[in-house]
Amino acid sequence: MRLSDPQEYVQGVRSCDRRLLSKTITLVESALGPHQELARQILDQLMPFSGKALRLGITGVPGVGKSTFIESLGMYLVNQGHRLAVLAVDPSSARSGGSVMADKTRMEQLATHPGAYIRPSPAGETLGGVARKTRETMLICEAAGYDVIIVETVGVGQSETTVASMVDFFLVLMLAGAGDELQGIKKGVLELADAVAINKADGANLENARQAAKIYQMALHLLHPATPTWEPAVLTCSALEKTGVETIWETVLRHHSAFSQSGELEQKRRNQAIDWMWALVEEGLKARFRQHAGVAARLPELVRAIGSGITAPTAAAAELLFLLDNSGDI
Ligand code: GDP
Repeated sequence: MRLSDPQEYVQGVRSCDRRLLSKTITLVESALGPHQELARQILDQLMPFSGKALRLGITGVPGVGKSTFIESLGMYLVNQGHRLAVLAVDPSSARSGGSVMADKTRMEQLATHPGAYIRPSPAGETLGGVARKTRETMLICEAAGYDVIIVETVGVGQSETTVASMVDFFLVLMLAGAGDELQGIKKGVLELADAVAINKADGANLENARQAAKIYQMALHLLHPATPTWEPAVLTCSALEKTGVETIWETVLRHHSAFSQSGELEQKRRNQAIDWMWALVEEGLKARFRQHAGVAARLPELVRAIGSGITAPTAAAAELLFLLDNSGDI
């Protein structure tokens, strides 16, 4: 069946017809012009039905236990009657040709549960492209009635910041290491965290995990909290033995309720949506700038001139922008 009527998709998504949900997401992910136009029309109609889910971002290095954790938390949630969508942001799959998260055995139980919908990372050349698709997929899943959305990412490039900018709560999974606990943590990731969970707190590793938690607690304490409403939590868990997972979910709920009451949740989402719009505008402007005939004609010479020190970058930029100003077609 070939569908070109947005209504068919909208109704399919609204009634959570998985086949149509997947087809809609495929349209969103498509690079073809007609698909994008159709996807835009569908999204427009679905927007009023989005926004009702709790959006949880999860990050951590490969091997930290993200899949195991999501399987564990996910099964807990669907067994409570929640409907869960798991999305991923993994721009490394485009760059390296192989995804860090593409393991087929991931989340086996969850993958077959009727209350869960798992969608792998879309392909994309840039993090911005992958993130845009994931963000739109999140809205579509919300319109389909999924009330918890997990967006998972590995710590590549800026992907943590990107995921943090589309969720309500950002959870960083960590491991207790042998040496200095704080080594190897990307600067800035802790600042994004609403909670840090030390995973694999089981067996002989339990005490290490507890020690690590203390160290992270101190480190987080030194950071200025972004809001008086919430001090980032440090917890331990074993995704494998399913311990501590429930406490993490309770922490997420506590944050959600505090942020809803203070009005910060609404504010945060509004700011995220506006930032997103600007990111799209910037992306679009840059693309149009490069496609502009006058700019394209002049650019190589100016780049050469800057390279050989004849022209100052300031002057070159001013000239290029002037070309655009005068063409009236941006
Ligand atoms: P991901 O790359 O972050 O998605 O990590 P995985 O979920 O694939 O887990 C990597 C490995 O760590 C697997 O062999 C898991 O069985 C193991 N693992 C995950 N969580 C735990 C845990 O809580 N305790 C222990 N002991 N092993 C775990």
